[in-house]
Amino acid sequence: MSAAHNAARRPRRISPERLPENLRLNLRIGADAPAGLVGPCWHWIGRLNRNGYGRAWHKGREPVAHRAVYEELVGPIAPGLVLDHRCRTRCCCNPAHLEAVTARTNTHRGEAVLFGARRPIGATA
Ligand SMILES: [Zn+2]
Repeated sequence: MSAAHNAARRPRRISPERLPENLRLNLRIGADAPAGLVGPCWHWIGRLNRNGYGRAWHKGREPVAHRAVYEELVGPIAPGLVLDHRCRTRCCCNPAHLEAVTARTNTHRGEAVLFGARRPIGATA
C-alpha cells in the first residue's frame, strides 16, 4: 500500500452534471432511491451488452458505462477490482451505488442474493 494514494482528491459532490456529454446524455435519473442507498439509480439508456450492462464510447475505447462514469466522478479503479452494483441494477451508473470490490467478493454477494440473504451491503443498522 502506498501512502501517496491517501492523498487522492475525492470530489465532494457526485453529480451527473460533471460528466462529459457522451456519458451524461445517455443517463436517465430514476425517481426513487433503492432501500439503503443514497440517491436514485442512473439508468443507462444507450447501448447495452448481452449481460445488460451499458456500453459507452469513451476516450477512444468502449468500456462498460458504469466503469466510465465511476472513473470520471470518483477516480481510477484499482487493477483487479470490479464494480459491484449494490442496487442490483446492471444498467445503473450512479457511483453511490457502485463499490469497487474483488471479483471474489462480488461473486459471494451475488450468491447471497440468490440464496435470499438480502442484507443491505454496508448498512450500519
Ligand atoms: Zn443504482
